[in-house]
Amino acid sequence: MGANYRITMAPIQALLESLHHRYRDLSSGTLASYIPQLAKADPQWFGLSVVTVDGQCFHVGDVAQQFTIQSISKVFVYGMALEDYGRDRLLKKVGVEPTGDPFNSLIRLDEDSKRPDNPMVNAGAIATTSLITGADPTERLNRLLAMFERYIGREVYVDVSTFLSERDTGHRNRAMAHLMLNFGMINGDIEAALDLYFQQCAVLVTCQDLAVMAATLANQGCHPLTGTQAVDSAYIRDILSVMYTCGMYNFAGEWAYRVGIPAKSGVSGGILAVVPNLAGIAVFSPPLDKNGNSVRGLRVFEDLSREYGFHLFDLSLGRCRFRDALQQP
Ligand code: GLN
Repeated sequence: MGANYRITMAPIQALLESLHHRYRDLSSGTLASYIPQLAKADPQWFGLSVVTVDGQCFHVGDVAQQFTIQSISKVFVYGMALEDYGRDRLLKKVGVEPTGDPFNSLIRLDEDSKRPDNPMVNAGAIATTSLITGADPTERLNRLLAMFERYIGREVYVDVSTFLSERDTGHRNRAMAHLMLNFGMINGDIEAALDLYFQQCAVLVTCQDLAVMAATLANQGCHPLTGTQAVDSAYIRDILSVMYTCGMYNFAGEWAYRVGIPAKSGVSGGILAVVPNLAGIAVFSPPLDKNGNSVRGLRVFEDLSREYGFHLFDLSLGRCRFRDALQQP
């Protein structure tokens, strides 16, 4: 059994190592600096992780380096809001339409519906976070951290300096929250909602964690190593749908075309992606392109999808070298 296991898994490890080697010297892209703390990242950091739904883990590079999760948190908080409100009530507050605009755009908030377009861009994410239930800010933060812990399988922490750095400088996000308050799309204490949003963005993760979180989504919400149900499996379809259509900001359409699996990126340089019923994949590399997506991350995923055929519409045709590499005896 042990011998078979090693023979089966070697191709994936070799694949990750060759991709790391291919792109580690790529120097394009710039660090996010609008949150001052993020500009302190090392542009050389580069990690790749794959975790399968049956709990096998493959890692190369800086996979244990901690960084703040940023926008990737939006996926998981959306899952929590679905559990708190149900699909129909949540849809009245936050839509599921891709925007084609930058992630921090507020231009469409003043259009007819006044409803933020989707939960994967800042306006929709702030509205989603404002809905999280709990008696007071501490209870809401604790519920949110407990949710992340179910996906990650260990205790998680907020990086206080990044949280404060964003709270001090997050004027666009504050403007969006005020507009949505004005339109009645969010209620209550918007400073508390913004604090919770900045805190969720400042949760510390590693590339390994992101792959486990993606694998949990790939596994119908059940953490492949701990067996914990992180989110009600009834909502996996909703979560993966908005990731697929809206997860990569104004690159979402091209991502769906070129890579073809649900994914989410964040301005600290992480990208996680879900191959349903098979694996979670994560790349971490801080330099970003103009859309705010990790430059190395995009290259790795494009190569993986092209060479290993996990585009969803390849999978439906039964052509997936990635699955073969993971599963062949
Ligand atoms: N905290 C960041 C913001 O709200 C998250 C953005 C991102 O990762 N794209 O601006």
